[in-house]
Amino acid sequence: MSSTKTGIEWTDKTWNPTTGCNKVSPGCLHCYAEALTKRFPQNFAEGFKLTLHPERLAQPKHWRTPSRIFVNSMSDLFHEDVPFSYVKSVFEVMSETPWHIYQILTKRDERLIDLASKLEWPDNVWMGVSVENQKYVRRIDALRKVPAKVRFLSCEPLLDRLDLNLQDIHWVIVGGESGSNHRLVEAEWICDILQQTREADVAFFFKQWGGIHSKAKGRSLDGKTWLEMPLAWKEHVIKWEHKFPKRLSLDELERNYLISIE
Ligand code: SF4
Repeated sequence: MSSTKTGIEWTDKTWNPTTGCNKVSPGCLHCYAEALTKRFPQNFAEGFKLTLHPERLAQPKHWRTPSRIFVNSMSDLFHEDVPFSYVKSVFEVMSETPWHIYQILTKRDERLIDLASKLEWPDNVWMGVSVENQKYVRRIDALRKVPAKVRFLSCEPLLDRLDLNLQDIHWVIVGGESGSNHRLVEAEWICDILQQTREADVAFFFKQWGGIHSKAKGRSLDGKTWLEMPLAWKEHVIKWEHKFPKRLSLDELERNYLISIE
């Protein structure tokens, strides 16, 4: 699976210059990437072993329509087995394709900090860390030191109440776990994070409640659908409007900016 349109609500497509990973924290327990690897073994010759795919590096250059691209939905770019030279090549491609927004998500905050100062961070690279329970809020401290234009959190699967320091964070995504063994998320934990984002003036995106499958319980929170994006997304859409297949109306622009909907 090299690149696909995706059902992930906060992005448009995925790009996997590496695949495979190994588990580092409780959020990994029912790893979606590992499950997909097992379900479609014909697409993953090396199984879930960390594998580089240099032949995929140039792919985004051929995607002419501006898109939000989730980098490595099937892996972790900051995995210890991804050589620095390869991470640098991924960053070079992102820099050479400024009409896209790249969303990178890691659970490896120590390597992120190690490499961050050695990399160039163009404005179209958004960096995020996963935070599933209070033990891993330390990843946010690492993220705060990264000179990315947008720094974001993915609190999915949310496994407990979180007390977050949102200083210099621009976007928080929250979601419950999916799958037959999913761990239940509590409404109180989600509402509490929503409240923290309101107080810190940070965009909030509620992905889904989770359940047997990801759409089982929908994504409505107290009658609202929360689809906020960081302000940088609106700025990006305005800047690259001329490259979209047809000119965006203000309505469409607002829909791309994604405000909370009653
Ligand atoms: S870090 Fe991400 S891709 Fe790697 S095992 Fe954990 S959940 Fe899966």
